Amino acid sequence: MVLAEHRQGEIRDVTFEMLYKARELCEKNSHSLTAVLLTQEKDLVDQLKGWAHQVVLYNDERIAGFNPDLYNPILANLIEERKPLLVMIGHTPWGMDLAPALSIKTGYPLASDCVDIMMEGGKPKVVRQIYSGKIFSKVGFKESEVYLITVRPSSFKPEQGNPLAGEVIERDIPGDVPEPRRVFKEFVDTSAGEVDISQAPFLISIGRGIGDAENIEQVRELAEKMGAVLACSRPVADQNWLPKYHQVGTSGKSVKPKVYLALGISGAFQHVAGIAGAGTVIAVNKDKKAPIFRVADYGVADDLFKIVEALKQKIDS
Ligand code: FAD
Repeated sequence: MVLAEHRQGEIRDVTFEMLYKARELCEKNSHSLTAVLLTQEKDLVDQLKGWAHQVVLYNDERIAGFNPDLYNPILANLIEERKPLLVMIGHTPWGMDLAPALSIKTGYPLASDCVDIMMEGGKPKVVRQIYSGKIFSKVGFKESEVYLITVRPSSFKPEQGNPLAGEVIERDIPGDVPEPRRVFKEFVDTSAGEVDISQAPFLISIGRGIGDAENIEQVRELAEKMGAVLACSRPVADQNWLPKYHQVGTSGKSVKPKVYLALGISGAFQHVAGIAGAGTVIAVNKDKKAPIFRVADYGVADDLFKIVEALKQKIDS
């Protein structure tokens, strides 16, 4: 069972990533795949067509936006009724809020932030990263009827394959769901700004390695010379060295430039998830063991200021 995540009329990528992985597991182990969609916009169900054997749809104005006070009892009720072997939820702000509470409510074990899932002896095992992504650990669960998993965005590259039946089953919100304590009011896109990094073909992205706001000028000059747009990691935006709309990553934007030049960025998964769609990734970091080099096509283990200066000179000559 996969919880479909959506925002502003679009099913989010993490949903298709989970459905893709879930289908692979279902096919290998003769299970059936159900997507669960909670929404006020009934048409969203069309975007899920072909991705699951069944789509359970709760269509109600009370769930116009994400509301854990409602999602939790609705999903707990459905899980208790159907007892799916595996429930996948995105490791996103939705999932981080919802999954632990769902685990407490149902009593079923939860593994969070998983980057891979496999079945061994009919039971799931998951792969998680520890020590800031330096170690991958494979984890089992305590014995249970149902297992809950949150899945890290960008862990799988979805391909739809032959369409599945996608039979839509409409359900009402159970009568005993309590009045929510919170109300969803509106979605505010804090990352909208003067430049749209998600559309730029060439990004030069700076991380905490830049050291200070005043050092950004050197990189800005290089970006202008090279026709690139400036992007950044979260600490740079958090310190107001660049506006938030420059931020790449899970709490910033996903980007898909042809070239992504990362300067002084360590490569935390929250950052790297945002560059999954990038073409050529080039990283400059003075620590040759920095995780960014795992995803980079080309890497320079050196001081970023040296490289910025050398590039400027090269262009000028
Ligand atoms: P650091 O990890 O501090 O790395 C700085 C790097 O610069 C180091 O590797 C160092 O070796 C290198 N360096 C230092 N000086 C130089 C130099 N002179 N030359 C070359 N290299 C140098 N992060 C994001 O980026 N985007 C997100 O959307 C995001 N969302 C998050 C959401 C949540 C819920 C959480 C908990 C975290 C999130 N983060 C996000 C933060 C993320 O976990 C990392 O902390 C962050 O990405 C680290 O940024 P950084 O690589 O710039 O800094």
